[in-house]
Amino acid sequence: MKKVLSVVLCFALILCAASPALADGGCDCGFSPVIYVGPLGCSSIVRDAGTENEQQLWKIDTKFLLSNLGGVLPDLTKALLTRDADLLGDALVRFVNACFGDLALNSEGNSKANVTTPELNVPAGDRHGPDSDYYFDYDFRLDPFEHADRLHEFIEQVKALTGHNSVKLKCSSMGGVVLSAYLEKYGHDGIDVIICRCCPLKGTAVAGEAFCGKIELNSTSLTRYGEDAIPFLETGFADDFIEGTLYALLDTLKAAGVVDGLCALGDKLIKDAGDKVYREALIPVFGTLPGIWSFVPEEYFDDAVEFMNLPSEGGLHDKVFAYRNAMADIEENLAAARDDGVKICVICGYNVQRTPLVTLWKSTSDGTVDTKYASLGATCADVKEPLDDDYINAMRSRDYLSPDNMIDASTCALPENTWFVRDWLHCNGNAGIDELFNLVMTSDEVNISSFEKFPQFLEADDDADTVYPVTGAPDEAARFRNSPTFLNFIRFLFSVLKRITENSVFDILFK
Ligand SMILES: [Zn+2]
Repeated sequence: MKKVLSVVLCFALILCAASPALADGGCDCGFSPVIYVGPLGCSSIVRDAGTENEQQLWKIDTKFLLSNLGGVLPDLTKALLTRDADLLGDALVRFVNACFGDLALNSEGNSKANVTTPELNVPAGDRHGPDSDYYFDYDFRLDPFEHADRLHEFIEQVKALTGHNSVKLKCSSMGGVVLSAYLEKYGHDGIDVIICRCCPLKGTAVAGEAFCGKIELNSTSLTRYGEDAIPFLETGFADDFIEGTLYALLDTLKAAGVVDGLCALGDKLIKDAGDKVYREALIPVFGTLPGIWSFVPEEYFDDAVEFMNLPSEGGLHDKVFAYRNAMADIEENLAAARDDGVKICVICGYNVQRTPLVTLWKSTSDGTVDTKYASLGATCADVKEPLDDDYINAMRSRDYLSPDNMIDASTCALPENTWFVRDWLHCNGNAGIDELFNLVMTSDEVNISSFEKFPQFLEADDDADTVYPVTGAPDEAARFRNSPTFLNFIRFLFSVLKRITENSVFDILFK
């Protein structure tokens, strides 16, 4: 039924597009429509849709996850208690395959026929404006160029519906992958604004390292990851008290060595069970998804091809390799768009601890995407650290240096169009950043000097749901003064304790 409807709708759109009234008149509102290109997981993936066996595989529902977990829980528990790596490996393989096995693509890079995305959006209605967008979603597993083809049709449909000759593309996270493929194949004609929000334009280290088998648990990164995530918890009641308590608990466990012990145990099990889990679950499932391959940064790619046993020919191979060109050309494609008058805003987070499972845990990020990859080449200090004095002293100009000395944006592909937000968790909603996007979409000139309230380096304040210009190094005392919550008090307290354990009393008092 949906198919019939969409065919009818397509014909209706073609007729509309061809009608002289629209071609002549169009819309004179002055604001071309916004297409929001969603992140990974923007659409659900379903097995046996429309039958009594229908099962949502992504976003996976809790009941399905728990029922599969139930099946392996006894073995998993036994394996952890007895530290039996073989049993652990078996249980994990069964679990991953039961939950995600049907997501795997075949050697041509196509989905199983009974695994589909039955509810993909088709543009409808002519409502457009700063508060209204058309949502483009897609099956994240597939070849990004398939999405680019669909986006091309989608853009034509939106133009026809609204009577505008151009659209704005606002891309979130993996939406940047779709954008990269689109610009590579179709160029930037008919696009007047491009926003990249936390996009892995050059990949993300977690995918690169995971696809090279570089998995490692690290207690410092695990603790910091928890610390950075806690302020964004929504527990429903007594948020502040629960967050503050969790923070204190986590840091106490770290100080007591408990986190280190757990990580060492986990690391040993990963080492012993890892081969089997990769061979029998991760490679046969995730290694077949061009969408996940699109996250692998250039410097990891050759090793990943070998480690993940990517076929040396066939459709899957070709799709994975075709996207490498889109990733390699993204700087050039965006610069060409800018030179033709397309307004561009690339915005990314920094100073958030990244996923604590990989060896590259010091890479500053928004928790998911590394700042250097999202910003197209910023020079970044390690997370929570400033750049070396030597580096800063050798800089010819400090025009693009962040006031906290953590980021040098002069090495970005588009330094005049790239913003950085300290402590901004990956794609977290923030009214201040939305205000910047509105300015980007409505102003004649868009660069880091265009908006007084939004210089190149901003700091996210999640409590106040806004951003402020960065003026100096992160300061837990100032954070507590500005927003005197229990959580911020605990953060301040532990920052002092950490300094005491790391420095002499003299340093604390006089530095
Ligand atoms: Zn209009």
